[in-house]
Amino acid sequence: MNFKKLVKFDFDKFVPYKSARNMCVKGDIWLNANESPFRKQFITISKNLNRYPDPQPKNIIFKYAKYAGIKVDNILISRGIDESIELITKIFCKPFLDKIMYFPPTYDMYRISSEIFNVQSIKVFIKDYNDFDYNIIKKNLKFLKLIYICRPNNPTGDIMPEEVLINILNISCNNSLVIVDEAYIEFCLYKSVINLIEKYPNLIVLRTMSKAFGLAGARCGFSIANSKIIKILKTFIAPYPIPSPVCNIVEKSLRSSYIEFIKKAVLEINNNKNWLFKKLKRIKCIKKVFKTYANYILIKCFHSKHVLKKTNCSGIILRDQSEKLNLENCIRISVGTKLECKKLICQLKKISCKTSSII
Ligand SMILES: *Cc1c(COP(=O)(O)O)cnc(C)c1O
Repeated sequence: MNFKKLVKFDFDKFVPYKSARNMCVKGDIWLNANESPFRKQFITISKNLNRYPDPQPKNIIFKYAKYAGIKVDNILISRGIDESIELITKIFCKPFLDKIMYFPPTYDMYRISSEIFNVQSIKVFIKDYNDFDYNIIKKNLKFLKLIYICRPNNPTGDIMPEEVLINILNISCNNSLVIVDEAYIEFCLYKSVINLIEKYPNLIVLRTMSKAFGLAGARCGFSIANSKIIKILKTFIAPYPIPSPVCNIVEKSLRSSYIEFIKKAVLEINNNKNWLFKKLKRIKCIKKVFKTYANYILIKCFHSKHVLKKTNCSGIILRDQSEKLNLENCIRISVGTKLECKKLICQLKKISCKTSSII
C-alpha cells in the first residue's frame, strides 16, 4: 500500500519544515536554532499526573500579563508559537478560498500551516520597508484573512518600522488579521507593538518562552490580542496544550528573580552580538553582514557551502539559509556565549586564509 497516496495532497511536492534538531550534524557548539546559550535547572514535583492540567493555567497567564503589561483576557497560552500559527490558520481560513500573506525570506511555519490547510499564500518580497507597496494588500483584501509579520524577521534580523505596520493594520482592519510574530522581541523590547492591541482589534501578537527565556524544550507560547479574538481562539484550541510539569516550570520562570536572570542573559547576548558583528565584518570569506535586532546574525559568504563544511568539521553548527528567497550563500549564526563567539571567529579566520590561498 502506498500510504503517501492517502495524504490529502501531493506528498512528494510538500517541502517539510527543516528542524535544526533533525539535521545530521555533529558538534558541540550549537549556533543554528536561535536558542539561548544560558540555562537554569528546574526541579519539578508532579503530584497529580493522573489529572489533566488546567486548560489555560491561570497563574501563568496572570504572571505573563503582568510581565507584558496587558490584561489576563488578552492572552491565550499554547504549545509554542507554532501551535498558535496552526490554530489561527485553521480557525480563520477557508480552504481553497481564503488567502494569507507573508514576506519571505521569513519563518517557514506560516507557509507550512497554510499548505497543510489548503490555504493559498501571497508571498511578497520587501526590498525596502520604506517603499512598501500597500496596493498589494488593497487589491487582495477580499479573501485575505491573515497577514504574517515576523518582527524582528527570522532569518534576516531586520524589523518592519512601526509606521509601516500601522498602515497595514489600518488598511486591513475590516478584512484581515495582522499577526506579528515577536519570537525575538526580548532582544529589542522597545520595539514591541503589544500596546497596540487595544487600538487595533485586528492585531495578534505572538510570543514564546523558547528564545530569550531559554525554554525551547518546554514548548510554551502566547497569543496576545483583543479579548474578543482571544475568546474565539479559546473556543477552538485543543484542550490542555501545556503539560502540568511544563506549567510548573513556566510559572517559576515568570517569577521576578528568573526575569532578572533573563534580562542579564539578554544583555550579555546583545553584547556578544555587537562584538561578533564587528568581528564578522572583517572576515575575508564573508561578503556581507546583515544588521540585526535579534539574537542571530545573517551573513552572506562568497562560498557558503565551503564555510558550512569547514565550521561543521570543527564542531560548530550554523544554519544554511541559501535556499531561501534571495539569500544565496547566506548563513544564519545564533549568538552564543562569548567563548563560542570567539571560537567561531577563530575558525572563520582560518577558513578565510585557506580559501584565499586556493583562489
Ligand atoms: C523559533 C521561532 C518560533 C517558534 O516558536 P515556538 O514557541 O518554539 O513554537 C516562532 N516564530 C519565529 C519567528 C521563530 O524563529
